[in-house]
Amino acid sequence: MATVLEQGNISIHTESIFPIIKKWLYSDHEIFLRELVSNAVDAMKKLSMVSRSGEYADDAGDMEITITIDKNKKTLSISDTGIGMTADEIKKYINQVAFSSAEEFVQKYQATSDEQIIGHFGLGFYSAFMVASQVEIETLSYKADSQAVHWSCDGSTSFSISESDRTKRGTTITLTLLEEENEYLEDYRIRTLVKTYCDFMPFPIKLVVLEEEAATEPEQINKQIAAWKESPSNLTDEQYLEFYRYLYPYQEDPLLWVHLNTDYPFVVNGILYFPKLKPDVDVTKSSVKLFCNQVFVSDNCEEFIPRFLLPLRGVIDSTDIPLNVSRSFLQADRTVTQIGNYIAKKVGDRLKDLYRDDRTSYIKSWQDLGTFVKFGSMNDDKFKKQIEDIVLFQTTLKPADAPKVEVETAEGDVWSSENSGNTVDGKTYTTLKEYLDRNKGTQENRVFYCNDPIAQATYVSLYQSRGIEVLFLDSFIDSHFATFLEREYSEVKFSRVDSELDDSLIEKDQTEAIDPETNDTLSDRIKTLFNSALNKPKLTIRTEAIKTDNPGSTPPAMVLLPEEQRRMQEMMAMMQQQQAQFPEEHVLLINTAHPLIQNLATMQKSGSAELADTICEHVYDLALMAQKGFDAAGMKAFVERSNQVLTELTTH
Ligand code: ADP
Repeated sequence: MATVLEQGNISIHTESIFPIIKKWLYSDHEIFLRELVSNAVDAMKKLSMVSRSGEYADDAGDMEITITIDKNKKTLSISDTGIGMTADEIKKYINQVAFSSAEEFVQKYQATSDEQIIGHFGLGFYSAFMVASQVEIETLSYKADSQAVHWSCDGSTSFSISESDRTKRGTTITLTLLEEENEYLEDYRIRTLVKTYCDFMPFPIKLVVLEEEAATEPEQINKQIAAWKESPSNLTDEQYLEFYRYLYPYQEDPLLWVHLNTDYPFVVNGILYFPKLKPDVDVTKSSVKLFCNQVFVSDNCEEFIPRFLLPLRGVIDSTDIPLNVSRSFLQADRTVTQIGNYIAKKVGDRLKDLYRDDRTSYIKSWQDLGTFVKFGSMNDDKFKKQIEDIVLFQTTLKPADAPKVEVETAEGDVWSSENSGNTVDGKTYTTLKEYLDRNKGTQENRVFYCNDPIAQATYVSLYQSRGIEVLFLDSFIDSHFATFLEREYSEVKFSRVDSELDDSLIEKDQTEAIDPETNDTLSDRIKTLFNSALNKPKLTIRTEAIKTDNPGSTPPAMVLLPEEQRRMQEMMAMMQQQQAQFPEEHVLLINTAHPLIQNLATMQKSGSAELADTICEHVYDLALMAQKGFDAAGMKAFVERSNQVLTELTTH
């Protein structure tokens, strides 16, 4: 091992480091106000701690902070009625940069108080020099027989301390603002800053403006009450809503909220609200406000709010989120990860409670909640496991056929649905598991779904007519979610109603008669007829007899798009950020049980071949309507053809 030549302490020259602290401590100069007001809050919290410990028996008097703008002298002062400082304390805590009293203090008084002190690093005070050419302290300590002290520093590394004639306990910090920082003499600027950073600090913050000879009346400019610090049992629904409206004015009321409050293994308080999701909500940006001990820190919570919960709103207050580190470090921080998991868990619990205790509200909010929940399931395995039993799909099941639901609520009562499980406003909802269980015998793990109830109405009613249950997967996230569910439950397959017709919808073992004249079957003739009328080489024409009690009520023809092929195309289109094009290769299924199709065959045989061709095109267009809209040329052709056929009809 190499010999140690010398060991020692690294030294810092105050002259060279001080300008760096002044300039670079915070990227935003305005932060100085937050720091000085936080110090004032700490001083008052400390006073109540020493009072409670019995060390200070006098009346504490009004506990408040006054910010005074003196336009004549161009000074800004922050005054508190806190603990004050003795000359020795000034020497210790102010003259030594990066020396905070917070830790010592908390250790000494922690037995009698659980106040949270904001200060920490012992740097905040010096942020005053970012905006001031001179900083002065006038202070009188709470300690008996203290001498008031005046401290002054012009931003160099020298200071002066003298006696002061101050008689009121507490501290006033006076900043003589630099010329270029005169904006802090404007009262609206101070009001905005207080509202941003100090709104929920637990003491009144008052503003006084001195101009010419006059002084304004002290006016409280912070809200002071932090709803998230209250116990949930003390808050009414109206108070939660009021708080939301205060934070996000002119917004629609939220759907529900979660009150976070834990002390172990980390401290997190807060209220998170689920807003109604507007299509224009940017789901990658968080608008949750982050606080540390009721001091606003940032509205960038992307690093520790689980990604799927980013659209949530509200407040998180935690002393355990390291604030002065880079974002990438924050993402790797263990506590931060744990806090994220904790939030996800609480959100999951809240949703489960609502599902159990107030199914109607849950279902009413499902359109919005569902997006969070599905997105969450796909992003977070733990969350997925937690909520998988409460993921709902709207179904074609008739309310009367849905099972009656009875659940035990938190209070031990039994909640019972009126007649059917999850029916609200005439719409019935089911979980995937219930769907699969119900349809076990007939469709072994196949899930039939529709993602456009209007376009796919024909298919849906066909399925319904044979008693097959169809789910509606019609929110923008559903196609991804279905793929996700198939990956999770490998035995389950989702098939859109138009991807293929289930065997139970088709008359399978029917042998068609051979026409002795033409020596072919109805199907043969229909295929030939359509192929020549439409003349589309990429189109596959298939004939089937669709089962029905009333042949006229089923569609004469339907377009089928195989599930896999369609999804592949959708994915490609998404990757190229384009709208999926309707593929030229698809199947036209012609229903030979339909009277129209049967008539067509006869018609062609009887010599009206031209009209038969026109009708074939028309039948195809009608089937295509479920898949795509017409373009201009298609629309024109369709209308012209309709008129032609109607004319034909009326002349016979
Ligand atoms: P921090 O707030 O992180 O402790 P600061 O540099 O802001 O660091 O302050 C250093 C110390 O100066 C504080 O810990 C506190 O002891 C003392 N101090 C600052 N402002 C006040 C005040 N308004 N009243 C009483 N003490 C104060």
